[in-house]
Amino acid sequence: MKNVQQAIELILPQLQRYLQESRDGELGAVALPPLRELAERLSVRQWIEQGGMDEEALRCFLQDFLPATTKLHAPGFLAHQTCASSTGGTVGALLDGCINNPMNIYEMGPATAAIEYVLINWLLEQCGWRPAPWPRDRKPDDHSGAGVLTHGGSLGNLTALLAARSHAVPDAWENGVPADLVVLATPQSHYSVARSCGLLGLGRRQIEPLAVDEHGVILPERLPAQLDALREQGKTIMAVVANACSTAAGLFDPLRPIGEICREKGVWLHVDGAHGASFLLHPQLRKRLDGIELADSLIWDAHKMMQTPPLCTAVLVRQARTLDQAFEQEASYLFHEKRQPGFDFMHRTVECTRAGQALKWFFTLAEKGPDALAEDLAYTVDLAHQAWVWFGQQDDFHCPVEPQANILCFEHRGSDPIAVRDALIEEGDFHLSTTIYQGKRWLRLVVMHRNTTLDTIRQLAERIRALGSP
Ligand SMILES: *Cc1c(COP(=O)(O)O)cnc(C)c1O
Repeated sequence: MKNVQQAIELILPQLQRYLQESRDGELGAVALPPLRELAERLSVRQWIEQGGMDEEALRCFLQDFLPATTKLHAPGFLAHQTCASSTGGTVGALLDGCINNPMNIYEMGPATAAIEYVLINWLLEQCGWRPAPWPRDRKPDDHSGAGVLTHGGSLGNLTALLAARSHAVPDAWENGVPADLVVLATPQSHYSVARSCGLLGLGRRQIEPLAVDEHGVILPERLPAQLDALREQGKTIMAVVANACSTAAGLFDPLRPIGEICREKGVWLHVDGAHGASFLLHPQLRKRLDGIELADSLIWDAHKMMQTPPLCTAVLVRQARTLDQAFEQEASYLFHEKRQPGFDFMHRTVECTRAGQALKWFFTLAEKGPDALAEDLAYTVDLAHQAWVWFGQQDDFHCPVEPQANILCFEHRGSDPIAVRDALIEEGDFHLSTTIYQGKRWLRLVVMHRNTTLDTIRQLAERIRALGSP
């Protein structure tokens, strides 16, 4: 290919058409040809080994490639909590790829680091936490927060829980993790929480199940006794993990009472807001995270409800020190005393080289502004609620719980959810997921954007009915 301009100019009409046809539903939502067939159709191996793809070959390649993508902009894309990228975010991703400024150390990307620094501070303010001072003004103290972007919520949970571990067991990097260390989480917690605990050296038995109600939501009135009992048994409590919201059913744990108890007992509260932290930007929806300022750490995925291309997660802490002490090791070639006009995020992440992720979130905000993003989010939450009301009026559909977010579990009576999902994928117009909730498998939909309407949901129900009748 001659240069970026020519390559991009050539494929832009194709991409624009792809987006338009995806939005209109003309391309369906999903198609899953067998991998081998697809790899052969795309001549993947030949391209890897021989190179030589010019602009014209690229254009031809995309004619086979684009139909074999999952169309996140499609009305019937309801499967996973991954957004359709905003235009601004897409430009951010393009810039990131083009300049490749891995800005974990300031000297590798000052402009991107400056954007991340200010973005993190703005996010801290949305939680009611104090932003960090400008790096050269004064040292952060216990009254200012801190944060960093990571590649996804799973890595975000690991990073936040690592900060909690360093807080509870300051010598863990030196001496390892004591056997009496415990984390309290709910069965509704995302699997990455248990996985993070495992990576941090805690066995499954060191994860204590929090008392929950019949919907799987934390019962704060049971928390004090639970914490006291664990301490009486000689356990060291590393963290309580609350959901905002849970992945399967999208329910929020009551953060204010949980936060008050954790503060009183001196226990770290981590809030997994991968999906729901974006609700903080909406004046009404924000109430679902009431009390967030009492937490110690929060993760916030922008690639879920912020229309930001992947991957972009903020790890935020109320007290900067806790994140700055989370990783104790030193790499002398990176972490040495040097003239520092900016800020190195390096010591706050698992990653060494790290993409300029802030660009994607920044340009999404810069294009749309937080209010419009919050209104788009509110649309998806409202539509999931309308779908719940509508399903409730149908004799043959049933939902286990009223939704609080844009996630809805439901069933078609008498149909096997896995068989329904597979049949829908085979047809291609609707992409759903399934989940285990309250010990049972359900169909699950997530409304991700305004291209999905109540009509889409009604058409989905018609297809499910047609599949169910012999
Ligand atoms: C999606 C999700 C995660 C994982 O985030 P990724 O960005 O997919 O790694 C963690 N927790 C919750 C509650 C989630 O919904």
